[in-house]
Amino acid sequence: MPESRQACPFCGLLCNDVVAREVAGRLTVEPGQCPLAERGFEQAQAPAAESRIGGRVVSRDQALDEAARRLRACSLPVISGLAVDVGGMRALVELAHRCRAVVDHGNSDAKMRNLLTMQTDGWMSATLSEVRHRADRVVFIGATAGDRQPRLFERLFGPGPALFERQPPVPRQLVFLADRVPAAAQALADASAGALTCAAIPVATGDLPRALGVLSAILQGRMPAAKDVAASGLRGIDLPALQALAADLRQARYAVLAWAAAELDYPHAELTVATAARIVRLLNRDTRAACLPLGGNDADLTSDAVLLWQTGLPFRTAFREDVLRYDPVGNRAQRLIDDREADLLLWVSSLNPGLVPRSHPDATIVFGHPAMRLEREPDVFIPVGVPAFDHPSHLFRSDKVVAIHYEAKSTPARPPLPGVAATVQALLTRLAADAGVRC
Ligand code: SF4
Repeated sequence: MPESRQACPFCGLLCNDVVAREVAGRLTVEPGQCPLAERGFEQAQAPAAESRIGGRVVSRDQALDEAARRLRACSLPVISGLAVDVGGMRALVELAHRCRAVVDHGNSDAKMRNLLTMQTDGWMSATLSEVRHRADRVVFIGATAGDRQPRLFERLFGPGPALFERQPPVPRQLVFLADRVPAAAQALADASAGALTCAAIPVATGDLPRALGVLSAILQGRMPAAKDVAASGLRGIDLPALQALAADLRQARYAVLAWAAAELDYPHAELTVATAARIVRLLNRDTRAACLPLGGNDADLTSDAVLLWQTGLPFRTAFREDVLRYDPVGNRAQRLIDDREADLLLWVSSLNPGLVPRSHPDATIVFGHPAMRLEREPDVFIPVGVPAFDHPSHLFRSDKVVAIHYEAKSTPARPPLPGVAATVQALLTRLAADAGVRC
């Protein structure tokens, strides 16, 4: 069968040029482009799980009736997961308003590391296009951003037309504050004939706050003395390397600090993000610099964007008694469940079958990807369509400046399923039919 170029929704990069072929009624990604896309396309077209109540297969209508009954009966519902497209999230915001629920993304522990810095300090951020066409020094805080977004280095630094040719050409430098240079970045550098170089400054993940603190101090003209370093827990920090990096960043025409917040998985990692944002502010006194927070997987930026424009507030917002309350600590979904304040969890993940609830309150309803398999059976399970496969969709890209429209790609592999928006609307219709009841 002829090949076609397909848009892919399975990480925050939202590539629109994935080469696929129709094989035996299924769209199959040509190998060697992106392992995440290969898996995502395969899972999206897998045979769909059936609607269930307590593990018993039922009709979709019966499952929706039971979901509505449980929502009416609960005291504090939490809506989480939220790997959904724009239309799905709009419907879920309406449902949260009706049921007075708390809304929090399944990956929000990582998302909050960025959000808390944005709220308190602000930052200057770059788009993917700016990094590709303008940045000459890029510092990656950690080494796993390319694991979460497999075509990241190709998209940012791969061969291809450049908007601005500099004469003489300016070599681009990538520096990884990590124990290694990712293989994909090194391969691009090896093939670039010197136009791109890569280096690592070995820093353990837990030492990133200290390393960035030292870099920030150097940029402010406060070079730590070697004896202070030995005495202050900064052993293992390569001071000369950080000093050289600071000098390089000052010389850069356009420096970028990039990170994936999911990798900064240690207490108070928002302070690491805040230090990165401060370094960018310092550099902007003399040259040009920007942050590049690499998010968007599991539609965290998409669902957050919808919540923001609908309510003015981000995740961890409670729709209580017609008053919206944002509380980044108290409204953490997992805390509400662990402390038994929430008595119902509605978990919605239509993009990623691996994004599943970690624990269950008294009642759990799952609107899940058709290939989702759960270790613990929820009270109600309803399969929902995959955005960009079962129904047309919109998603926001990692840099939040582009919303991509996807046409449906349903193949004869299985009949299309109703998406999250249609499923939630069916639930809202049931709840509206019971006027006077709380939900
Ligand atoms: S990098 Fe992300 S968006 Fe691009 S093809 Fe891979 S999974 Fe899809």
